[in-house]
Amino acid sequence: MNDNKQEGKLIVFSAPSGSGKTTIVKHLLSLKDLNLEFSISATSREKRDTEVDGKDYYFLSAKEFKTKIKNEAFLEWEEVYRDNFYGTLKTEVERIWAKGKHVIFDIDVSGGLRIKRKFPEQTLAVFVKPPSIDALKIRLKKRKTESKDKINMRVAKASAELATAPQFDTIVLNDNLEKALDEAHKKVSDFINS
Ligand code: 5GP
Repeated sequence: MNDNKQEGKLIVFSAPSGSGKTTIVKHLLSLKDLNLEFSISATSREKRDTEVDGKDYYFLSAKEFKTKIKNEAFLEWEEVYRDNFYGTLKTEVERIWAKGKHVIFDIDVSGGLRIKRKFPEQTLAVFVKPPSIDALKIRLKKRKTESKDKINMRVAKASAELATAPQFDTIVLNDNLEKALDEAHKKVSDFINS
């Protein structure tokens, strides 16, 4: 992580849980012209049935996660929900840059802003805005990945997260998915080619 020409760009997508940012990030990854690779975060939360270790996340125990914090292995980390740690390993960004690719992140608002502060010139920080808190709740319920308690916890956090939107470089409103995908593509493409 020094100032040499091997470094690519950092594209951060942050939003409250259920805003559709993961769908947008997956779409951008499928567009080969953007030359993006997904930053696989480390987490201490439980793996969902559909998830694959080393592809969706590096799943660590809370103890392993804390050891890595102590060893300064993270570029940023957060206790996003109680006892659920999430973080970006420094080695992850180095791995992707070494391949000559740009890094795309699907991370929470605090982590996203932290990366922007660390690499102000290299980072495009995008906030994905859901049409409303109610819409967010409906999406989380439909997704059926979380218990009722966990959904309530995520919705409660969403208002505070929405308030951080103005600190991002740009906002994509996700009220119509097709439009949001196009808009996100254009913004990322313009930034990478600038
Ligand atoms: P989920 O449990 O739904 O996969 O993710 C919960 C939240 O943690 C999401 O907002 C997700 O973007 C965020 N998250 C995932 N990876 C990271 C990371 O490396 N750092 C931070 N700060 N947040 C992350």
